[in-house]
Amino acid sequence: MARDVSIVHSCDMCRRLGLPFMTATNEHVVAIDGPPKRFDFCDPHEEQLGPLIALYREEGVELDSKRTKQVEPDTGQTAALAPPAPEEPYKVICPLDHKRGGSGPKAVSYANRSAHAQTVHNLAVWEIAWGDPEGRLPVLCNAHAKCMENKLAFENEAGRGQHTRVCPLPVVV
Ligand SMILES: [Zn+2]
Ligand SMILES: [Zn+2]
Ligand SMILES: [Zn+2]
Repeated sequence: MARDVSIVHSCDMCRRLGLPFMTATNEHVVAIDGPPKRFDFCDPHEEQLGPLIALYREEGVELDSKRTKQVEPDTGQTAALAPPAPEEPYKVICPLDHKRGGSGPKAVSYANRSAHAQTVHNLAVWEIAWGDPEGRLPVLCNAHAKCMENKLAFENEAGRGQHTRVCPLPVVV
C-alpha cells in the first residue's frame, strides 16, 4: 500500500526559543570552522536570520542555502525526466595478440566481435575464445564442435539462433 510520505522540518530557531512548532520552509547549510551544519528556519525567522546567512555568504564562508518550499519530494520524476545514460556497448575480450595499439588482449564490443575477428585476425568469430568479463553471455553455442571448443557464447537465445542460422560449420548431432 502506498503511503504519502513527506518530511517536514521544524524551525530550529523556534525550537530553540521554545516556541510552538513551526514548519521550516527555509534550509541553510552553513560551515563555520567545521563540518557543514544544517539549519531550518520558518519564514519569520528566515526574515530575521536570512540576512545574517547572506552576510556569511558574502564573506566567503562556504554555505548552501535554498528554500525547501520549492523542493518537491523525490517522486522519481527527476530520474524519469533525465535522459537515460547512453549504455556502454558490452565489451568482450579478444585474447589474441594485437600488434597495433599495444600487444596482448583487447576489449572489443560484443556487437563487433565477428567483424574484429575477420578484419583483425582473419578468423571466424568461433575460432576465438572470447573473454566474457561480466558473465553477460550465458547462452553457449551447442551446435558446432569448434564453437564448443572455444565456448562461443551469446547474450540470449536469439543471438545464438542467429549464429546457428548463418554459421557454415557442420552441426554436431
Ligand atoms: Zn522559527
Ligand atoms: Zn583481437
Ligand atoms: Zn556455433
